[in-house]
Amino acid sequence: MSFAMDFVFPPAPPCSLAVVGHAQRFPVRRIYCVGRNYAEHAQEMGFSGREAPFFFLKPGDAALSAPVDAAVDMPYPSLTTDLHHEVELVVAIGQGGSHIAVTDALQHVWGYAVGLDMTRRDLQAELKKQGRPWCIAKGFEASAPIGALTPATQAGAVDSANITLQVNGQLRQSGNTRELIWKLAEIVSQLSHAWALQPGDLIMTGTPAGVGAVQRGDLLDAHISGLAPLRVRVV
Ligand code: MN
Repeated sequence: MSFAMDFVFPPAPPCSLAVVGHAQRFPVRRIYCVGRNYAEHAQEMGFSGREAPFFFLKPGDAALSAPVDAAVDMPYPSLTTDLHHEVELVVAIGQGGSHIAVTDALQHVWGYAVGLDMTRRDLQAELKKQGRPWCIAKGFEASAPIGALTPATQAGAVDSANITLQVNGQLRQSGNTRELIWKLAEIVSQLSHAWALQPGDLIMTGTPAGVGAVQRGDLLDAHISGLAPLRVRVV
């Protein structure tokens, strides 16, 4: 490794994700998230489902990479007694860009994965009441467990894939990505008008209905048809 400049301490290595069928890993830059992108989930959160979706971020190092074949441990975070699961399709950007047209957007996608937008729901509810930012509710350490990435060429029809989450073998969330209010290409395009997308950016595309609390010891099984599953043990 040869940097042209010296640092006062060694920079942290990037967070990275496992890739199905590859020894190489995918380095993570930012994690963008879409709020309320399935109508039934918007309704369970008290909205009509007709509002335009919106964006928030998690830090890149909030990504908790799961191996291809095993569960990953997620520590139960501090400051909450109501940690919620939100199973989501994750889009991984391989080619950056600004002001990307909807028709070009999917050419910027490197691959797809199953992810969990873990949320301190009690803190989020309080922040919503006060009109304050959601960072502490959404952007804590290990708040984005993500399974192994599948390259886009091998991922199948991710725009019409079943998406489910089981907790301890019980079905909690079930939907299909065709129910997304904003489609994948529209999300990539819209984001690229607000931020310059870069290789390594991840987009969590929103969760179907059925969000709920988990406890220490719970085993979460997240599935999207055509993608590597994600298993998370809350510890
Ligand atoms: Mn979410």
